[in-house]
Amino acid sequence: MSEDTKEKNNSLITRRKLLAGLAAGAAALALPVKNADAYVVEEYLRQHFKRLTPEELKGILKKTEEELSFKYGKQINVKATPPMDNVLYGYALDLSRCVGCRRCVYGCVNENNLSRNPQIQWIKVLEFEKENPKWQILEESNRYYEPEQVPEKGKFYVPVQCQQCKNPPCVKVCPVQATWQEPDGIVVVDYNWCIGCRFCMAACPYGARNFNWGKPYVPNEEINPNMHYLGNRPQYKGVVGKCTFCIQRSREGRYTACVEACPVGARKFGNLLDPKSEIRYILENLKVFRLKEELDTNPKFFYFFSMGMPVKS
Ligand code: SF4
Ligand code: SF4
Repeated sequence: MSEDTKEKNNSLITRRKLLAGLAAGAAALALPVKNADAYVVEEYLRQHFKRLTPEELKGILKKTEEELSFKYGKQINVKATPPMDNVLYGYALDLSRCVGCRRCVYGCVNENNLSRNPQIQWIKVLEFEKENPKWQILEESNRYYEPEQVPEKGKFYVPVQCQQCKNPPCVKVCPVQATWQEPDGIVVVDYNWCIGCRFCMAACPYGARNFNWGKPYVPNEEINPNMHYLGNRPQYKGVVGKCTFCIQRSREGRYTACVEACPVGARKFGNLLDPKSEIRYILENLKVFRLKEELDTNPKFFYFFSMGMPVKS
């Protein structure tokens, strides 16, 4: 047996042991181990994405496309586009422009095939009182505001999603390495490898990960057929998902859906390694800050005020 094959088998055994261990505990409630559907079980026992050979990956993508096309009654394309060379993605959000309309939230839901029932959202827009001196403490916010019109007087809004940390605590705690950082900086999750323990959710200081407590549901007519294996393909019950900077779009040189959905141009996205990019202009010329900087998570998600704040001296 080659070293490569040995490593593959060992990792499969380790994960199976973990699954078996968890099956005795509360976490097992979320696992489809009792599901009689052979396809679900086969998907659950699939090899880790990073250890798939190109042939295995090709076969899995083809099979996934067939299954999803059948399920949703339309042609679905599932890619695994790799990272581009010399690209490190970064994001910037202009808080002086954001009006709290949540169009980004719903743009993300549609683009990323997030469950409509139960409802899953990867972007949260937090509402703060303008006078609140502790406004950078996310827990001081109101997430469930429902005014007739936005923006409301005396309020301002801070959208939060995965901050794509350079030092991601979520990755460090995952016991089975179901989540990792790609060379272009995007932190991804292998939905077929995740065991649903939710350690990563506990470790993320930004509340940026979501657990699928129920079976995700997306109506056939609303499914986005352009998918990435590590991004917007429909998830499973009992696994964790998160923003991937729209990996299915960004790796093709496109803007994320939330950038396109924002009606006031508050959202900026681009390649941090490109000195001519808009994101680099913002970092070099405006006063930017990051949430919870003291934690040393080193997010690649920056906030700034283009109006009403001094420029960098
Ligand atoms: S924001 Fe949370 S989920 Fe995203 S990389 Fe950082 S720790 Fe991980
Ligand atoms: S829930 Fe999070 S920590 Fe647990 S296996 Fe899934 S990705 Fe890893």
